[in-house]
Amino acid sequence: RQETAYRRASIAVLPGGAFLEGRWETADRILEVRDPEDGVLLGSVCSSTPQDVRRAVASIHRHLQEDDWALRDRREALERAAVLLADKAVRFAEIIAAESSKTITEAEREVRRCAETLRLSAAASSELVGETLAFEDSMAGADKIGWYTRKPVGIIAAITPFNDPLNLVAHKLGPALIGGNGVVLKPSGRTPLTGLAFIQLLLEAGVPAGRLAAIVSGPGVSEAIVTDPQVNLISFTGGPKTADRIAAAAGAKKILSELGGNNATIVCADADAKAAAASIVAGAFGVAGQNCLSVQRVYVHVSLFEHVLEEVVAGTRALRVGAKFDRTTDVGPLISEAEARRVEEWVEEAKTLGASVQVGGRRSGAFYQPTVLTDVPAEALVISEEVFGPVVSIMPFIQVADAIHAANDSDYGLQAGVFTESIELALAIADKLHVGAVVINETSDVRIDSMPFGGFKKSGVGREGVKHAVREMTEPKSTIIKLA
Ligand code: NAD
Repeated sequence: RQETAYRRASIAVLPGGAFLEGRWETADRILEVRDPEDGVLLGSVCSSTPQDVRRAVASIHRHLQEDDWALRDRREALERAAVLLADKAVRFAEIIAAESSKTITEAEREVRRCAETLRLSAAASSELVGETLAFEDSMAGADKIGWYTRKPVGIIAAITPFNDPLNLVAHKLGPALIGGNGVVLKPSGRTPLTGLAFIQLLLEAGVPAGRLAAIVSGPGVSEAIVTDPQVNLISFTGGPKTADRIAAAAGAKKILSELGGNNATIVCADADAKAAAASIVAGAFGVAGQNCLSVQRVYVHVSLFEHVLEEVVAGTRALRVGAKFDRTTDVGPLISEAEARRVEEWVEEAKTLGASVQVGGRRSGAFYQPTVLTDVPAEALVISEEVFGPVVSIMPFIQVADAIHAANDSDYGLQAGVFTESIELALAIADKLHVGAVVINETSDVRIDSMPFGGFKKSGVGREGVKHAVREMTEPKSTIIKLA
């Protein structure tokens, strides 16, 4: 206990509560950051103003006009950042576990992934090379030669959510910086300390201070960022309602959005029920279900239904819900008691519509027990909306076509899982699922940081995954020469 208190105290030691005009700022107006598990005060960040945003953006704009940052130097800074992060992995994992709802084990995994994202960002320097243009193969171009390279769009606003407070920031800042852009980071107000510590790490690694700003929160701050005329691109990860507000305010700017998921997994008659169940439990309840790739809806062939359900319920019962810094904990709290209450209400609504709770269904403060539901009608919120909590619904199907139809019957289309021993069946189902990625013999909860990542429908616009983001954050620029 004492050790945890000490660690939490050390987290508060950041150089400042916002980073703008190339330096750390502290202000009278502060926002307190508390541990969602027990309300312990972890630190304070600045509550900024729209005027602060304008100063930050104007300063980056000036810097980009005046200072070149060579591609080789960008690559080397990001390589150094990956090494520095590995050195400081313990401290970063502690900050993440303290301010977010991740367990220390989940936080450590995120730090390792972030180092990989930084290495991939450095390596994506090769994406900027471009190619020669085939003038000699064109009627209009026989007397010319030309090529294109990729140039930065300018200033990118990176707006990030609470659930992966480090790696999702790196997925925007890494590609933006290797592409030669400046960045204004607006981390989630619920988990800002990780994002600010990451800015400090990038500065130590040699990223020019003039290219970066980080502003957490304050009245009108988000609106000021997305409407600033000198912000050229908005890279947003968060919920679809926030995405709608951003799109309405931002006007004609380019917006990349990584939004929610309501991910389905289909378990066919010939699947390995035990393996599928273990994978469903891990995919549904990691980070207490607060993961855009979480398993939310499971469709099981009727012949395996009882078996899979029994295994999922047993696996769920075996999970240890508890303190984030306890290494035996499998599932920590939600990000706030309000979120846990919302999840509780959604489960109560499902019950009034006829759903049965097979395990879980109880709340204590910000903790919600991992919950398995059956007999859930399609109109229940836990089926029709993104739960973003530790709740999974399991439904039987008879015809594969019905399972595909049900899986696709969602406003979202992020990822899906299919369990079957038949590769032909797996590929036939995968082909018909309207999602950004289909995982065969695992659930939707699979991602590596280099794959194109994003979804169809309400799950977003554009793709992350480092080199894909670099392409989105740069524009091809051609040079053409008329031959003598
Ligand atoms: P959120 O939409 O509430 O907030 C995300 C960010 O937007 C925060 O930094 C917030 O301060 C900011 N914001 C809020 N209002 C704004 C406005 N009007 N203008 C500009 N910015 C504004 O999301 P959250 O609750 O932090 O995160 C959960 C959501 O994120 C879930 O829907 C989840 O699925 C999604 N998510 C998606 C992915 C993905 O890659 N697809 C990854 C993680 C999380």
